[in-house]
Amino acid sequence: MSTILRAVQGDITKLSVDAIVNAANSSLLGGGGVDGAIHRAAGPELVHECRLLGGCKTGQAKLTRGYRLPAKYIIHTVGPVWRGGASGESELLTACYSGSIELAAQHGVATLAFPSISTGIYGYPIDLAAKIAVSTVRAAVEQFQGIEEVIFCCFSQADLAVYEDVLNQ
Ligand code: ADP
Repeated sequence: MSTILRAVQGDITKLSVDAIVNAANSSLLGGGGVDGAIHRAAGPELVHECRLLGGCKTGQAKLTRGYRLPAKYIIHTVGPVWRGGASGESELLTACYSGSIELAAQHGVATLAFPSISTGIYGYPIDLAAKIAVSTVRAAVEQFQGIEEVIFCCFSQADLAVYEDVLNQ
């Protein structure tokens, strides 16, 4: 079975998918950007569950329930801060995408949405990040079976254009 990969523009908290991925920080206790939006939309029960997880290292992923979101689960992953590209950023970003897919497959997730991890506050260049996102997801859905659709949820029109270019390559 081949997995559908597509990009959309919108607010990831509104998507009716089995799981959404959060570009979290290592505390897992909420922050700015998409992380703040997810915590606001999921409600205060989310931070209670997150407190039990003991944080998350860069490149790792942890799963919680989705609470008030349409999504059943949230997969929290911590992307790397961009420091110029020679500090293991690409390997860490790859690990975020592949680890999230692995965790999703383990929980029977069929439909999954990612934000553009690390490309906001963490400063990862969008063109480089989108290539890693798409190539890593393509490989990981072959390895970890059962995922039917992966949506790259872009917040801006400009990011959507980058993802669509990469998906069409
Ligand atoms: P990071 O710290 O990993 O860079 P950010 O949250 O700052 O995370 O940004 C990651 C991406 O998420 C950026 O492209 C940002 O525009 C986008 N974003 C912010 N809010 C939302 C949202 N509600 N839905 C989808 N994407 C969002």
